Amino acid sequence: MEDVVAAPQTSRTHILVRALGYAYRWGLDLLFPPSCVVCERVGVWLCDECASQIQPLQTRVCTRCGRPWNGGSICRECETNPPLVQRSRAVFLYKEPIRGAIHALKYRGGRQVAAALGQTMAASWLGYAMEADLLAPVPLYPGREARRGYNQATLLARELGKHLGIPMAPHVLYRVRNTLSQTKLSREQRRTNVVNAFVCAEGLDLTGCRVVLIDDVMTTGATLQACAGVLLNVGAEAVNAFTLARAP
Ligand SMILES: [Zn+2]
Ligand SMILES: [Zn+2]
Repeated sequence: MEDVVAAPQTSRTHILVRALGYAYRWGLDLLFPPSCVVCERVGVWLCDECASQIQPLQTRVCTRCGRPWNGGSICRECETNPPLVQRSRAVFLYKEPIRGAIHALKYRGGRQVAAALGQTMAASWLGYAMEADLLAPVPLYPGREARRGYNQATLLARELGKHLGIPMAPHVLYRVRNTLSQTKLSREQRRTNVVNAFVCAEGLDLTGCRVVLIDDVMTTGATLQACAGVLLNVGAEAVNAFTLARAP
């Protein structure tokens, strides 16, 4: 599936940093050949055997935010503050071995790991029957993406789009503020940290479009909420979210 919406002009510095990033990882692959992130078998980033053994999230979840929840259909948090994201779903809980796989996706062999994980996401997607006209990866701040050489959410969304036949749009959303890493912040800090962090591509009109946000990990959902607000402002009919993993 082709990516839709043209990429913006990338600065020369970003191209240079990106090229250095590729060279660096190519060098790393020579020195440290890929090994399965789970069993360390050499040759692939996630071997077939381990991929088949990672158990998807199968507990009862809140029908809105997807958090493991044994009460009614909607959790207390969603009842008090209904999220802008209609439904959030994740394939796995964010714990080992998937935590290691996501680390590898971000810092070691992005593309190869994404192919394996994207396939798993596609298989799981079919069980959620999420309606989507467009997949939109949660963007990284441009500097961070240039240093890494890719956005792991885009890699996952591209794989998913390929398997499901849904268009993927890596340039619908932009991160305009370099936010702090969410991992060490409180729930409230996470929310304020991402306020005004995202904008839509200029002139974009998503009237009638059902968008599904794609990311690697959902923690409190603050990032997805911020993205959903921006997409709804330009007419999106509905915004759902699908992530590889979510915090327990
Ligand atoms: Zn393995
Ligand atoms: Zn909920």
